[in-house]
Amino acid sequence: MLQPDRSTSFPSRLLGQHALVTGASQGIGRAVAVRLAQEGATVAINYVDHPERAEESLALARTASSDRGHGKLDHIIVKADVSNEQEVGTMFETVLARFKRLDCLVNNAGFQKESPSDALDIDTYRRIIDVNLNGAVLCAQKALAHFVARGGGGSIINCSSVHQIIPKPDYLAYSISKGGMANLTRTLALEFAGRGIRVNAVGPGAIDTPINDAWRDDPKKRGEVTSHIPLGRVGTPEEIAAVFAFLASDDASYITGQTLYACGGLTLYPAFRDNWAS
Ligand code: NAD
Repeated sequence: MLQPDRSTSFPSRLLGQHALVTGASQGIGRAVAVRLAQEGATVAINYVDHPERAEESLALARTASSDRGHGKLDHIIVKADVSNEQEVGTMFETVLARFKRLDCLVNNAGFQKESPSDALDIDTYRRIIDVNLNGAVLCAQKALAHFVARGGGGSIINCSSVHQIIPKPDYLAYSISKGGMANLTRTLALEFAGRGIRVNAVGPGAIDTPINDAWRDDPKKRGEVTSHIPLGRVGTPEEIAAVFAFLASDDASYITGQTLYACGGLTLYPAFRDNWAS
């Protein structure tokens, strides 16, 4: 399958912006932090564990911004469990004390766990909703309070999933959390549009990150996954990060309340791609 040429340069649309990316110590969050830094933003990299991975993301963000000629931007790492109200409060205090302002929040932190729905342990269910959905709400509240207090708008971008609209059997809590992202995004977008605040979401398909360790290094399982994807391949974190950067930028200045699916066509009912008589 043809891979896109990512050696081409892209614009620096985020000069002067300050952004916070949750769950940015690996995977999509790391790629988003790096891409925002490449485009000129100063980035706060949130992590909950493995500080050494957050340090790696920090080093990558620093290199990314200096390689692109943005000098030494003041990127930071900041620890917090996004489901913990107190830790989220402290994280925002830390970020705002350092940056003085925030322009963009990326709600990326999330995880999933497989279980038949009728046997799903209720504590696991609660934890997934708490991190994936309630964590995004807690962070959004803090960002919105800041955007409103300082005036001049701001942007929130939620990391949803194709499972915002495609059911995911055996992943009930995850499906519910991403379904909830739709109305989180749309409700906040409508409520705060009058104050110049845009709220959008990105819906990735199957992306090559650690959340997919169950299949990404197994050729047979990976083949099963790609056989469902119209573009015929798994996506890269960088391809998803590019969508976040677009939504954070003024190129998306008239877009709010939307979920932009970056999924290689997964949302197109691929099972119907061959002629099918109803
Ligand atoms: P990942 O497992 O590599 O990264 C998830 C990140 O979230 C990790 O850095 C983890 O430490 C962090 N995290 C988990 N719980 C946290 C908490 N309580 N507080 C703060 N951070 C926490 O997986 P990924 O693929 O990079 O996932 C990122 C986001 O993308 C998730 O919201 C996921 O649902 C979404 N997504 C991923 C895919 C995919 O195929 N990879 C597809 C659709 C959506």
